[in-house]
Amino acid sequence: MFTRINKLQIELPASTFADANAAAAVQELLGGKFGEMSTLNNYLFQSFNFRGKTKLKPFYDLVASITAEELGHVELVSTAINLILTGTTSPGKPDSTPLHEGLNKRNTYHFIATAQTALAGDSMGQPWRGDYVFNSGNLVLDLLHNFFLECGARTHKMRVYEMTNHPVAREMIGYLLVRGGVHVLAYAKALEIATGVDMTKLIPIPDLSNQQFDSARKFEAMGFGRKLYTFSYDDYRDVDQIWKGTHPETGGKLEVIVGTPEGSPIPELRELPEEFAPGITADDYLEIVKRLKRSGNL
Ligand code: MN
Ligand code: MN
Repeated sequence: MFTRINKLQIELPASTFADANAAAAVQELLGGKFGEMSTLNNYLFQSFNFRGKTKLKPFYDLVASITAEELGHVELVSTAINLILTGTTSPGKPDSTPLHEGLNKRNTYHFIATAQTALAGDSMGQPWRGDYVFNSGNLVLDLLHNFFLECGARTHKMRVYEMTNHPVAREMIGYLLVRGGVHVLAYAKALEIATGVDMTKLIPIPDLSNQQFDSARKFEAMGFGRKLYTFSYDDYRDVDQIWKGTHPETGGKLEVIVGTPEGSPIPELRELPEEFAPGITADDYLEIVKRLKRSGNL
């Protein structure tokens, strides 16, 4: 089962300008074939369906703990999209066409289907699909797939980074490049232990260090490229059978952290009257407070 912490894995900067087309591109990192919803659901189902988890506990613990981190990545990319969209439109009466700014943006779902927030879909508006999940049940094949998935995800992040310099997108991608690098290495090391092959000779794919990205360098310097989190205070500790030794590129000591990263507050999304969201007027709110009081909740 799961517990939930009302924090983001890192702090995202306040957005100083809106860029709805950048937000549309960032959707690929959320609901694309190689997006966070895919890494999440691949590891989620692989962990549910794992055969022989007692015997193969370090591998099960690895997939299970990374699953929890990926859910936080889904949250982080969604929040980044929400912040990048903030300020695209301003309130106005319906006849003043207050949503006009959304008319010629790349993803009109951001203006029609949601109140200018993240969609469970990709950069072309296609919904995320369950057949992006690969779970053969063969441990080496699934680990090999996860290694490939993380390398593909890394490529897409690097390309979106090159498409937009929006500070919120850059901060989020810089962090996820570093965390994705950890996952690439973790699956490589798992394959090395499972098969004896030296996978670390293959990485990084693409052959470009995180040091080439201004927004990733900071997170590398903070040690995020050396740490694997259990995302649990009691379980999944046998990841330390796999995540040990030194980083092949930086030489830094690999470290398992019991628990989660420290995290940061989740930014508040302001009301958007032009989208009727959340659609609670000041008078409605007073009535709600009265009803809560009457039922003894306040
Ligand atoms: Mn991720
Ligand atoms: Mn990952």
